[in-house]
Amino acid sequence: MLRDKCGVVGIYSGLGTDVSPSIFYALYALQHRGQESCGIATYDGEFHIERGMGLVPEFFDLNKLSDLKGNFGIGHVRYSTTGESKIECAQPLVTTHSKGTLAIAHNGNIVNAMELKRSLEKSGQAFISTTDTEVIAHLIVRRLAKDEDIVTAITEVMKKLIGSYSLTILTEDMLVAVRDPLGIRPLCLGETDGTTIVASESVVFDVLNIKFIRDVKPGEILVISEKGMKSYRPYKLNRKAHCMFEYVYFARPDSIINGIPVYSVREKIGMLHGENDDVEADFVSPIPDSAIPFALGYSRVRDIPYMESLIRNRYVGRTFILPDQQARELAVRLKLNPLLSNVKGKKIVLFDDSIVRGTTSSRIINLLKDAGAEEVHMRVGCPPIKRLCKLGIDMPTDRELIASDKSVEAIRREIGADSLKYLSIDNLMEAIGMGENELCLGCLTGKYPVEISKYEQVPLPAFIEKA
Ligand code: SF4
Repeated sequence: MLRDKCGVVGIYSGLGTDVSPSIFYALYALQHRGQESCGIATYDGEFHIERGMGLVPEFFDLNKLSDLKGNFGIGHVRYSTTGESKIECAQPLVTTHSKGTLAIAHNGNIVNAMELKRSLEKSGQAFISTTDTEVIAHLIVRRLAKDEDIVTAITEVMKKLIGSYSLTILTEDMLVAVRDPLGIRPLCLGETDGTTIVASESVVFDVLNIKFIRDVKPGEILVISEKGMKSYRPYKLNRKAHCMFEYVYFARPDSIINGIPVYSVREKIGMLHGENDDVEADFVSPIPDSAIPFALGYSRVRDIPYMESLIRNRYVGRTFILPDQQARELAVRLKLNPLLSNVKGKKIVLFDDSIVRGTTSSRIINLLKDAGAEEVHMRVGCPPIKRLCKLGIDMPTDRELIASDKSVEAIRREIGADSLKYLSIDNLMEAIGMGENELCLGCLTGKYPVEISKYEQVPLPAFIEKA
């Protein structure tokens, strides 16, 4: 299983109401993007910050929220990439400098963070965390200390950053949203009756009953204050690189990312699979929940029934938070239970969103076969993942990725499926409705949208953590 990245939010209330309750609900809606830590920073003449480990509803309570006063604020949900849970890495991160204070929340990964950090350290900068977010914060603050305005400071810092970043920044008098020039990570804008919100996913606007306005453009800086909202676009590249995985797995199906409804993409992926498949089966079934739209799309095109074969226990946490292999195996059985009455003696087309190491697929196919399934034909919602992501998604090393050096047939044998089909890259682009020039396909092709070869040898998780 791949791990989600982070989620960010920023809210300004022109009506002067405290924004922390809305940020709390926004983070709750973005919980799927990070479950290890969460935090909120607000401003009402002074900065207020609450950050901690755990899920949003577990960490925040009424007391904490009522202490977070102010009509400007930002929030963050995060997971740790090293497996270590550290409070110092929880965000928003607050930095005080000679001209004021700044709080920052980041989703993405700065590929050259270590190089930038070393250079800052040489000039005497101390660091309190291991995050690349702190590198961004210090770079911005240094420019502000030279009396540069926030837009100039951020523009200059953007010139140095290589990688992906969607940022929400809180200063004494404004909320700023920034999206990297390739638009790798999502960020969108909503507004209703004097309240302006930027958030990683549009589902936040649905929850808060806010009107979705548009995506923050790649390379755009939005400055939101009592004077209104101003847009600056110092970077306008002739290509984009939206992460294809947001559509396949990470984003919630009810979100609209870069103007495209995620649910429709997933349904279309299932339909395209169906158009290219003639395997004989009694029914098609998803590994719940993420693969449901794939299976529904497939069922419609092939005119074979959609049925459930696995029931999910909704009260079990994500398997990756469990520390060892034995615990993870137990978690799969606890989390997914075969529906014996549907499965026994049946030929099943089984959908999953992706295959990473192959261990989960193999365990699930075993579960179904032990429950009496006659055949299990695995269909995958994305092409083979061959290279690890360098742009903000936590993946195993290349060596651990089952598709890095194995053919589809070898993978089929290893996971124990009766047949195995991945989506083609062409079909993926067709389902999303974007071409090579608009998508990041780095983990599928090894061709990343930014120059990373120079930084490839850097042991990132040992020193710098992704936000
Ligand atoms: S390498 Fe893959 S997971 Fe990473 S940003 Fe690109 S498409 Fe997304």
